Amino acid sequence: MKTTIMIDALNRLIGKENVLYTLEDRLCYAYDGSKQKHIPDVVLRPRSTQHVSNILQYANEQEIPVYPRGAGSGLTGGSVPAQGGIVMDFTHMNRILEIIPEDLTATVEPGVITQTLQNEAAKYKLFYPPDPASAAFSTIGGNVAECSGGITGLKYGVTRDYILSLEVVLADGSIIHTGRKTLKSVTGYDLTRLFVGSEGTLGIFTQITVKLIPLPEKIETLLVFFATPQDAVQSATQIISNNILPRALEFIDKSSIDCIKGYKQEIQIPEEVNAILLIDIDGKDANVKTEVSLIEKIVVENHALKAIPAKDVKERDTLWEVRRAISPALYTIAPFKINEDICVPRSRILEILSRIANINKRYPSLKVANFGHIGDGNIHINILHEEGDQQRILAENMIEEILRNTVELGGTISGEHGIGNVKSRYLSFEVPPQELQIMKDIKHLLDPKGILNPGKIFL
Ligand SMILES: Cc1cc2nc3c(=O)[nH]c(=O)nc-3n(C[C@H](O)[C@H](O)[C@H](O)COP(=O)(O)OP(=O)(O)OC[C@H]3O[C@@H](n4cnc5c(N)ncnc54)[C@H](O)[C@@H]3O)c2cc1C
Repeated sequence: MKTTIMIDALNRLIGKENVLYTLEDRLCYAYDGSKQKHIPDVVLRPRSTQHVSNILQYANEQEIPVYPRGAGSGLTGGSVPAQGGIVMDFTHMNRILEIIPEDLTATVEPGVITQTLQNEAAKYKLFYPPDPASAAFSTIGGNVAECSGGITGLKYGVTRDYILSLEVVLADGSIIHTGRKTLKSVTGYDLTRLFVGSEGTLGIFTQITVKLIPLPEKIETLLVFFATPQDAVQSATQIISNNILPRALEFIDKSSIDCIKGYKQEIQIPEEVNAILLIDIDGKDANVKTEVSLIEKIVVENHALKAIPAKDVKERDTLWEVRRAISPALYTIAPFKINEDICVPRSRILEILSRIANINKRYPSLKVANFGHIGDGNIHINILHEEGDQQRILAENMIEEILRNTVELGGTISGEHGIGNVKSRYLSFEVPPQELQIMKDIKHLLDPKGILNPGKIFL
């Protein structure tokens, strides 16, 4: 169909002020965090569920691909318009519709920034725990579609653990409601869980009801330096086996440390430090004190070089700012990076780290930096490489070996970033043919013409 005819029709459906079609505008929506480039034919900015329904009804009739998009911070190409067509930008559906403290729930539109919801809930002394490192800019809609995790996963779980109900527009434009706004509901199949993590391929969320919990009274942060990664991993294991569930338990390896040295003058990291744990403990004041003392004892027993508690909120924020800066800072090692987010059972962390180091010996021109949510077994493996096809191929071969080893150890190829179109070729490493077919059948049932985010998850 001619683009002009499509644009005229879309102008009529949602108003021309919500339709962007100049090349400059479309270019802004050609990317996400995976750094691919696919220019859409048109960008739409729906303002209501009815707009979304109108668009999908039309796109389904005309068989035009539709790519829902939040902030475009996804790392696996989820919102990239791989086959052209429509990008549906949700940043203008960004209202918090209600927070009901007595029900411990909030209902929001998908374009609400995660941190905005966290901040609004905190005004009622309530807490929305899922906390991806991108919380300051990613949207709840994107978080639900990716089932995002983040730094609080160990103690509080991931996005799916907080989604009670969804308003979803299906591929044909019909509107359904899954789940209930109650904390419990076992009426029929759990469609909410089916949609959470579906990466925009099964339906488009227009309202999301989340569960909130009481805001913890106190948070303490500890930065712990180690001479070896083994000591850091051993400390993490012992903290958990002592029945302490930290709010955050993050691991940073030597290569990642080297990138953030000097980023903040206040944080000096001595040369002999080869691994760091960044630990948050939260809860009632008295409990936090007891747990921090126990953790200090455990890390000393595991040869920590130094444990530095954050003195105040400002110092705590600085430490976390440094942690959040690692990902972009890795570009100081090499101009290109591939970021994997494998997750293994916690007991296999040392094994996978040692296998990765061994694999790396066979790829001496590539550098590896590891950091992440060690408490969940979810490590971000970054393969850093120079420009050129040969380097890229080497990096991809190395990743394939790492992913096969991860699955062999009982792990998963994606703990939180999703599959998108970046990892679809690896899906069969983990998902056997029969399960894969069930997934494809569900996709076909809900989106028979394949207009929703085509080219994602499946090859
Ligand atoms: C610096 C940085 C740090 C990060 N840290 C983490 C982390 O700690 N943990 C983590 O899990 N991820 C992390 N991410 C990845 C990313 O931020 C998350 O995947 C996030 O959930 C994406 O949200 P978004 O709003 O940017 O969505 P987008 O990237 O725009 O889209 C992501 C997916 O959601 C779909 N989608 C968007 N809106 C809707 C909707 N309304 N209905 C249906 N589908 C929709 C899209 O089609 C796409 O498939 C990080 C990314 C960056 C750049």
